[in-house]
Amino acid sequence: MTSPIWHPFTQHGLEEAIPTVVKGEGALLHTADGREVIDGISSWWVTTHGHNHPPIIEAIREQATKLDQVIFAGWTHEPAENVARGLREMMPDALTRVFFSDSGSTAVEVALKMALGYWQAQGARREGIVVMEHSYHGDTIGAMSVGERGVFNQAYEPLLFDVAKVPFPAEGAEQACYDALDRACANGAAAFIVEPLVLGAGGMLMYSPAVLAEMRSICARHGTLFIADEVMTGWGRTGTLLACEQAGVVPDILCLSKGLTGGAIPLAVTMASEPIWEAHYSTDRAKMFFHSSSYTANPIACAAAAANLAIWREGSVRDQVATLVERQAKHLSALAADHEIENVRQCGTIAAFDVPGAQGYLADVQPRLLKFFRENDLLLRPLGNTVYVMPPYCISEAQLARVYEVIASALRSLREPAHDGA
Ligand SMILES: *Cc1c(COP(=O)(O)O)cnc(C)c1O
Repeated sequence: MTSPIWHPFTQHGLEEAIPTVVKGEGALLHTADGREVIDGISSWWVTTHGHNHPPIIEAIREQATKLDQVIFAGWTHEPAENVARGLREMMPDALTRVFFSDSGSTAVEVALKMALGYWQAQGARREGIVVMEHSYHGDTIGAMSVGERGVFNQAYEPLLFDVAKVPFPAEGAEQACYDALDRACANGAAAFIVEPLVLGAGGMLMYSPAVLAEMRSICARHGTLFIADEVMTGWGRTGTLLACEQAGVVPDILCLSKGLTGGAIPLAVTMASEPIWEAHYSTDRAKMFFHSSSYTANPIACAAAAANLAIWREGSVRDQVATLVERQAKHLSALAADHEIENVRQCGTIAAFDVPGAQGYLADVQPRLLKFFRENDLLLRPLGNTVYVMPPYCISEAQLARVYEVIASALRSLREPAHDGA
């Protein structure tokens, strides 16, 4: 029988092979047919310390023997308290409150609802959300509404709410972004949501910390809430714990997920500043924050997150990140010297470049590259003609060298005509 599974972001009509993964170990995935695949994208940006990282797996194992799940409305447990206290210590002081959910998309939905709740509590009619061109904030309806419109969400357009959009602050064109943001904020926008320093799914587009700082100060000037979506950029991805850190920026609301548990199990938090908490704090039950999901702050997921926080407190992961940043720079510049690639860029542990020619998510080089990487036991998933490498921090120098060797052969293979119709 063929599998009844309907996979995400997969066109089953193309009948591409779907390998079965049986084991993960560091930067490697082992498949049922005996292949060892290098995970060059941290399994979609979540795996920070490597697959089956022992302290995280141990924390999950231990918690599973004590408490698997409990309602979180009106009840609490130690793993959640540990995570919340740990986040309070590690994250900027102004972010005093921690709201749990289960995914990046829900962390974003929660952030948007908190922002609107904040303004409603002041009796102010500030409802509009400002977003940046090419952004991605998740696939639920609200998260899609604040993300880039295109082939991904065309069919759902009638359900998406209107937002004000500022252009991407490409180098040399920052002023257009600032002006648009200033106008939208002056019009009474409730909040601006942005991915700090790197727009992930939008094509690994990068901008400088100075731009982030300027956008933050424009919002502050108008009282527009600043929501940092660090779902992808958080937990060391950009070289620092948070991307915002590099710009000295403290958001009003912060979304974290992906690396929060080291990528082992789903969990998310939305952190909020005290005024946002206070806006919902009352003896009136009608003013409470109306949001929950069944698995909010699942104890096993929280135990994994607590273990991740312990890893960050211990500190050697920062050296691992620094080493990866250097190695990425070295390999990327060697690749750029030997191949015709464009827009070569790096932010922390993330390296990216564009393959010249057709652009856009459905660019036809994408399936050719994907197939080539897969045949060479490398998990990379180009975004259209953008190839990027975002490995777990534990990847060895030999493994990373192999990643770039396969990329180099893939680029050479692109110069040959396609023989498979792909
Ligand atoms: C992945 C991502 C999300 C959505 O997270 P999910 O856990 O997939 O729902 C939101 N924002 C950004 C910046 C992301 O990269």
